[in-house]
Amino acid sequence: MSWAQRAARNILPLSHEKSDLATALREWRYEGGFHDLEAPDADCELCDHPDIRYQFEIRNGLTDARLQIGSECINRFGIRATGGDGEDLDAAGTRSKVSRDRRSLIEKARNKRVIIALVALSQADSEFSILSFINYHQDRGAFTPKQLATLLWRFEKFQVPIDVHDFKLTIRRGREKTQLSEMADWQIERLTPAMSPTQRQFLATLKARRG
Ligand SMILES: [Zn+2]
Repeated sequence: MSWAQRAARNILPLSHEKSDLATALREWRYEGGFHDLEAPDADCELCDHPDIRYQFEIRNGLTDARLQIGSECINRFGIRATGGDGEDLDAAGTRSKVSRDRRSLIEKARNKRVIIALVALSQADSEFSILSFINYHQDRGAFTPKQLATLLWRFEKFQVPIDVHDFKLTIRRGREKTQLSEMADWQIERLTPAMSPTQRQFLATLKARRG
């Protein structure tokens, strides 16, 4: 069975239109409801594709039925998203709303993993003052070079499992750039997985200046 046949089988019984897939799809909107299952273990309710982690909800305006589907399927089946004022978005507008929402889900999940790691560290390490780190991360979504170096060292010492890529570095302020430039190469080495491409470029010019 093709993906279009599977979609027809799933969506026609829930739509006002009972025979034509294209007509039925026009009854559905993505209105901005989405959630993170935290593991890829659901099937897309439209095309049956397995291993969906981020579910996007589409709703039929005539029957009020809802389906939880993968974000790619919104674009693939040409389902329209609803904009901030309740208006229908065109294909390009839908595409950008879906990718914005998807990025925000991924960012939220990353944020959560950082907080979980900080809490685990505070339970293992009595000298770790978690609040200032949590507050800082909530304000800026990233850590200074000094904070991150401290964290990575303590995570290792207290065997808290983390993925360095979940942690972001901020070097926008002069003070933060100075912190980085004053670090030894081996310390900087440990921070690089957390760096953005622009930050790596800055690092390269820093290293060139050092000679
Ligand atoms: Zn799908």
